[in-house]
Amino acid sequence: MSSKDSVIPFVFDALNVRGALVQLDVAWQRMQGEHKYPGPVADVLGQSAAATTLIAQSLKFDGSVTLQVTGNGPLAMLVMQSTDSLDIRGMATATEVPDDATFASMVTNARCAVTVDAGAMERPYQGIVEICPDSLAASLENYFARSVQVPSHLAIVSEATFCGGILLQQMPGEQPIAEDDWRRLGFLIATLRAQDLAEGATSQLLQKLFAEDDLRVFHARPVRFHCRCTQSRVEEVLRMLGEAETRAAFAESGRVEVTCEFCGRRRVFDSVDVSRVFADQVQKGSASIH
Ligand SMILES: [Zn+2]
Repeated sequence: MSSKDSVIPFVFDALNVRGALVQLDVAWQRMQGEHKYPGPVADVLGQSAAATTLIAQSLKFDGSVTLQVTGNGPLAMLVMQSTDSLDIRGMATATEVPDDATFASMVTNARCAVTVDAGAMERPYQGIVEICPDSLAASLENYFARSVQVPSHLAIVSEATFCGGILLQQMPGEQPIAEDDWRRLGFLIATLRAQDLAEGATSQLLQKLFAEDDLRVFHARPVRFHCRCTQSRVEEVLRMLGEAETRAAFAESGRVEVTCEFCGRRRVFDSVDVSRVFADQVQKGSASIH
């Protein structure tokens, strides 16, 4: 069975290890949209999409996972977000990056932050690690080891039209597995190549990869590209920008245009819209006084 844009969770019968396999194609292509990312930047973005989906699929509550990379190198900023129901979106900003740029050359002094937001009930949990110049996967393994103390192996791959990966984690609260077994599993997933995922995330691929182990493979869960931007959130951004700034932008071109960096959706505000956005604010302001 092959299904694309999906995650397959699994557990090892004889080892306290759980895992998930992800492949994204349509979602990944839509995320790239009109961005025309340089190859090496797209590569990191695709790997981030796979990794963030793998983290989000393990959430046991309504919430979201946001992965953010910021640094002084050519890859200035990357943000990737997935909800617990596996709606993902993400984007990156980078200066000039040659086609043969290495990961290390793009992420000078970069940090990686993973924020797990459990909705309104709890404060978001954030872990921050230095980016390891070897790879994004190594950086995230550091995050799992240091911030959440869950030993993890991560393999992530990205191509122009699809990306994917595998996450293995020792089960928290259970007896740690033998060092030899854990190392063996790490070697196995390190053999994952992008081409292995060309046909999607399949249970056959898992059986092939872990031929010596008995796995319990669960139903595949669909993943989709979905941006959470809304008209009211964009209006909120204009209010934060301030009335003077917004009116100045308006005076320049006769309208205010806001384009969502995630999905490319363009929203245009005319003079009536601008007045309404700031009139609402006045009403809200007076309402809070009384
Ligand atoms: Zn959007």
